[in-house]
Amino acid sequence: MNAAVTTERKTIGHWIGGEAVRGTSGRSGPVYNPATGEQTGEVDFATVEEIDRAVATAKAAASEWRTWSLSKRADLFFRIYQLVDDRRDDLARALTAEHGKVLSDAHGEVQRGIEVIEYVCGIPTLLKGGFSEQAATGIDVYSIRQPLGVVAGITPFNFPVMVPMWMWAPAIACGNAFILKPSEKDPSASLLTAEILKEAGLPDGVFNVIQGDKVAVDRLLEHPDIAAISFVGSTPIARYVYENGTKQGKRVQALGGAKNHMVVLPDADIDMAADAAVSAGYGSAGERCMAISVVVVVGEAADALVSAIEERLPSVKVGDGMDPSSEMGPLVTREHRDKVASYLDSGPEQGAKLVADGRETSPNGNGFFLGASLLDNVTPEMDAYRDEIFGPVLSVVRVDSYNEALNLVNENPYGNGVAIFTRDGGVARQFQFEVNVGMVGVNVPIPVPVAYYSFGGWKSSLFGDRHIYGPEGIDFYTRTKAVTSRWPDPKTSRVDLGFPQTR
Ligand code: NAD
Repeated sequence: MNAAVTTERKTIGHWIGGEAVRGTSGRSGPVYNPATGEQTGEVDFATVEEIDRAVATAKAAASEWRTWSLSKRADLFFRIYQLVDDRRDDLARALTAEHGKVLSDAHGEVQRGIEVIEYVCGIPTLLKGGFSEQAATGIDVYSIRQPLGVVAGITPFNFPVMVPMWMWAPAIACGNAFILKPSEKDPSASLLTAEILKEAGLPDGVFNVIQGDKVAVDRLLEHPDIAAISFVGSTPIARYVYENGTKQGKRVQALGGAKNHMVVLPDADIDMAADAAVSAGYGSAGERCMAISVVVVVGEAADALVSAIEERLPSVKVGDGMDPSSEMGPLVTREHRDKVASYLDSGPEQGAKLVADGRETSPNGNGFFLGASLLDNVTPEMDAYRDEIFGPVLSVVRVDSYNEALNLVNENPYGNGVAIFTRDGGVARQFQFEVNVGMVGVNVPIPVPVAYYSFGGWKSSLFGDRHIYGPEGIDFYTRTKAVTSRWPDPKTSRVDLGFPQTR
């Protein structure tokens, strides 16, 4: 099913020790332009030896990098911020070319990533420890935060710039060396990031990129010199990474998949809720871990809401992400597009009503397009409800009460994001208190926390104890040391075999 072969296919290799290097395994994967279906590149898949070399390079760099003063590190991060800001269009274009999302959305992704860099420009403050003077007579106790050493990040296809930034920015600012294993589906942005970091003055070896597949991931999981792994991707792989990484004694945060509900109460503004459902359901063609996948509509609002969503769909412009008039691009691969489209068969077969069929509104050609699709009367046992889907297929589940909506959300195995639409502040506050989900939006459909909070779901959407970026990101990439210190007059010294006392 490979589409037409382009005359010039680029080859995408690794970045080790401050330079681009070609892979030697002879194994590689295809990279496509999802808007045309053409294969535009070939990405090398790393060998175990290449990963070992990257880890050794990172380890050597880490010991020097952690000695950089905090003000020098902050200074460097201001330069990184500036360069990423200057090159935001290059980054956005690189990711649209391989992921397919529309350029305006790619710019939004870069912007949300830049905000994490902005946050870690404050690293001197973020790494402050605690100090207790006179914890016992003449004794002071203080805590310091130290880096872990070499840490690795394994990232998904859907945010090839922002999600790596969630990891490398805090990891490096905390004094660690970093190895990125990006998605093999859209790997080019990782090398552009590496070039920017080098140009900013980051010492060689502090940031490395290893392209690859399971072979690379497995070696990162077992390598004894890697202290921690951050993972973002689907739930089965997140669980695998968490179980195998922790078995090797590593610190692991593994963020998984999602099924995000948007609860619409009868008192909600229907037009506002419909605008939000369309924006959050079909933005980035539904390939966001915080996309709204299910609208749970309570009581009599259902008919009006379904009509309001339906009437908005014909004007969602689907097309090549590079075309400024496009609002929704293609899906990432043909296989994924076909899997997503299959819910438009299985949904009606299992009793749902197909209100809008995106197969009819897809642009012609070889691109991996699927138009905005809507299923009504979906029930919890249907595949369209149970599976993540990760595409432009929005389901509507009708329920009779707030409690029924709440139970549906709380019984779902995922717990990444959720939104409630209502004009009743008391009910919204009750929902925030009762719902078992990590990120909650009140009249906000995509509640991705700002960079100075932390991002992460509950239940099968996160394995590990720490959410990503923000204060929990700083915790994740450092370990604390508590120091007890005294400077007594040597003349007062004596032998005392008792356990140290504070009073
Ligand atoms: P994926 O799990 O297929 O891949 C993620 C990473 O794991 C990639 O680098 C890939 O190369 C690697 N990988 C894939 N299969 C592997 C295997 N068998 N063994 C070892 N490594 C393997 O995810 P994806 O399709 O790239 O991304 C989409 C998924 O990511 C969705 O489920 C989405 O919800 C999730 N996601 C979650 C968040 C979050 O914050 N919770 C954010 C973005 C994406």
